[in-house]
Amino acid sequence: HLGIVVPGDHVIWQMDLEDNTGVVLTVQPRTSLLSRPDARGAVHAVAANVDQIFIVIAPTPAPNQTTIDRYLIAAETENIQPIIVLNKEDLLANDPQREHILNLVGQYKKIGLTILTLSATKKQHLSSLHAQLANKISVFVGQSGVGKSSLIAEILQQPLIRTGELSSSSQQGQHTTTTARLYHLDAQPGSVIDSPGIREFPLWPLDPSTLAYGFIEFRPFLQDCKYRNCLHTIEPGCALLKASANGSISNARLLSYQKILATMKDQTK
Ligand code: GDP
Ligand code: ZN
Repeated sequence: HLGIVVPGDHVIWQMDLEDNTGVVLTVQPRTSLLSRPDARGAVHAVAANVDQIFIVIAPTPAPNQTTIDRYLIAAETENIQPIIVLNKEDLLANDPQREHILNLVGQYKKIGLTILTLSATKKQHLSSLHAQLANKISVFVGQSGVGKSSLIAEILQQPLIRTGELSSSSQQGQHTTTTARLYHLDAQPGSVIDSPGIREFPLWPLDPSTLAYGFIEFRPFLQDCKYRNCLHTIEPGCALLKASANGSISNARLLSYQKILATMKDQTK
């Protein structure tokens, strides 16, 4: 059984010269797989072999740490490199939340993430983004309005299909495009997989230990909790609570973990 073929997959296929079609024979093993739960909670594959996820934030709409962390967890769980893009650099100087945003970004820099500060519409510092895209399969994620479409359109030099628009092949169908597509870069080897559904994909349900492992700076402490099944909330002898109290990890990140843990419990009830 072949299973579903998604953008990013490498396949072996056979051409049928008579009717000019092709048949997929095998799907090669995947290095990573991004999935998306549907309304009923069933998880569907949307993109394969993604190398890096650009998590886009901006001064407006204001960044939400839990949202950032959900994307980071998804990336870390699939061994995909996350990169934070602080877009709308032009709005930063006069933003009343400037200090807060720089502090937030600083937390991620401290745990080793690459941060790209740039502006899609003012075309500032885009060369760092272009360099980062080379030879990789990338996706862009983040809250609505942060500038993902603007960035991708800038990279691909073409306007994108937006949420709710009709695809040209289904004009009569009144059917919106949620299918992801892989776009090759023009200027250099590398590609971007995009769809409205990928740009804001939610985190799929995870068990608590996988969730904690998704916070990379927690990893060195996870073996040191008194209880093997510690949830790092109120347990005595919790190494993460201790690490947060003495400043070895960010308290904001621990709170974010606890918040996400609580929502996952609700999902599995
Ligand atoms: P998406 O929902 O994440 O795809 O965001 P869009 O690309 O649709 O951008 C949302 C709005 O932010 C649009 O009005 C863009 O013109 C604007 N925008 C995008 N990038 C920048 C930027 O670097 N600076 C400023 N000032 N506005 C931007
Ligand atoms: Zn613990």
